[in-house]
Amino acid sequence: MAQAKTKAKAKVTALPTMLTSFDPAKGEVVGQVRANTPQEVGAAVRGAREAAPGWAALGPEGRARALADVRHRIFERMDDLIETISTENGKPAAGALNHDVLPGLLTLRYLERLAPSALRTRTVGRFVGPLLGMRSRIEWRPFGVVGCITPWNYPLFLSFMAITPALLAGNTVVLKPSEMTPGVGERIREVLEPLPPGVATVVQGGGEVGAALVDAPCDKICFIGSGATGRKIAEAAAKHLTPVVMELGGQDATIVCGDADLDLATSGVLFGAFLNAGQTCCAIERAYVVESVADEFERRLVEKLGRVRQGARGDSRADIGPMTVPRQLDVVQRHVRDAVEKGARVLAGGPDAEIRDDGGLWFAPTVLEGRTEDMDMFREETFGPVLPIVRVKDEEEAVRRANQEGANLTASVWSRDSRKARDIASRVASGTIVVNDHAATATMSWGLWGGVGDSGYGRLHGEVGLKEFAAPVHVAQNILPRMKRLWWYPYDEATTRSIRAVAEILSAPTWRQKGSAARTLAGSALHALKNKI
Ligand code: NAD
Repeated sequence: MAQAKTKAKAKVTALPTMLTSFDPAKGEVVGQVRANTPQEVGAAVRGAREAAPGWAALGPEGRARALADVRHRIFERMDDLIETISTENGKPAAGALNHDVLPGLLTLRYLERLAPSALRTRTVGRFVGPLLGMRSRIEWRPFGVVGCITPWNYPLFLSFMAITPALLAGNTVVLKPSEMTPGVGERIREVLEPLPPGVATVVQGGGEVGAALVDAPCDKICFIGSGATGRKIAEAAAKHLTPVVMELGGQDATIVCGDADLDLATSGVLFGAFLNAGQTCCAIERAYVVESVADEFERRLVEKLGRVRQGARGDSRADIGPMTVPRQLDVVQRHVRDAVEKGARVLAGGPDAEIRDDGGLWFAPTVLEGRTEDMDMFREETFGPVLPIVRVKDEEEAVRRANQEGANLTASVWSRDSRKARDIASRVASGTIVVNDHAATATMSWGLWGGVGDSGYGRLHGEVGLKEFAAPVHVAQNILPRMKRLWWYPYDEATTRSIRAVAEILSAPTWRQKGSAARTLAGSALHALKNKI
């Protein structure tokens, strides 16, 4: 017993851990950030709970005005944000601006404008029948405190993708960004400073800090990350019946039809596969190319890949940087080696490709032909600069395999025939499907963001995403308060006749039968109402 007490005390007074800010282009530690303790997470959630009523009372317009100040703070700190994202992610500065800062701003700006109308109370269903005199409204109320847990690959954008709709819907938030990019977490904390205290708090740390946030508990969780962590969070949240938005990984498919514009398709597939060194949840991990155009598709794609420049942060012409975290580089190396051993043909890059020897987490962008059931990359998300091409007989085979051989967070179709492309798109199982493009949908804040099957559930972006963070409440009001209700006691004969007449009006196939029931209702309802106790 005494030993248990000492252990508990040791846990409380343990020194906080330091998180490492790491530059993957050089393999160098560039800073340290103090992690929060689980106790501090509890305090942050309590602070958020205290701030919640005041924030909700501002209404969507007031909250949108407050978030505009956050946008202006991003404007002031833009260079610093780009520099920190680029340093910790390894992505070129242009990528940090294009794919992190800009979509974060688009999300804020679009949802700020949308929130007041999307969250407006609406009157619904004035249908009367026996419910004469009842009027219904649907109100969208905040949950309270939303815990947001985000990954490292787009550390700024994805944090704003989670917190923006939650805040606009009237919740306060506690954000736990990834421990792999703690410097960006600090920059996010700084740009959130214009908000009232407790409205948006950043807590830093690894899985245990995320777990403490889920277990605080919060009133809703928005999780963006891997399927493995998502499953742990779903279990922990179930203990408190906390609802969760699950934005998980994918093995996105693209279908290149026999009539595709190959110049467009090769450029778009190249970008969709290698964006952010392939460390993109919606990166193409399977390209199904119709046999008749496959030779030409591969030739052009490999030729274009040769013109893509892989380089470090300081290289202003770099398109692709190194990978961001060592454990992901390990996964990619394992997947490519395994695929080659099992018969995949290397068209570019590959396990033996020459790479820089400067301590950075470099992996040469790789194109493979062939992807079979026995390969690791078939069962697991690769999440790296690897594009497997699969030749198919026709579009039908492509659709079937796109649906069967992995989870699509998003998917795409390339064809010159828009009607045919839309028809194919309608048969692909995915949260988002795009025709003649790939990946851009992540930044379309007016659309939807969320997957199917193993890539998660719940939606971000747009009106549906805003409403993920608001609980619909039905407020019904008796606007004829002096009239008693037909279904109240007693259940006398006139009551039963009246209710039966309503049921007949609803179910009768002919107007003559409906009319007869309506006459019965008129004759009995007043009598029934007079007798109500
Ligand atoms: P991850 O699951 O390892 O970590 C994500 C976050 O969860 C981190 O902040 C981490 O600290 C936290 N975490 C870890 N264990 C936890 C626990 N037990 N309880 C609570 N929080 C915990 O994912 P990652 O490696 O950071 O990111 C890559 C993954 O994210 C890929 O699978 C990628 O596809 C996915 N992703 C999905 C989307 C999307 O929108 N669907 C976007 C980006 C990335």
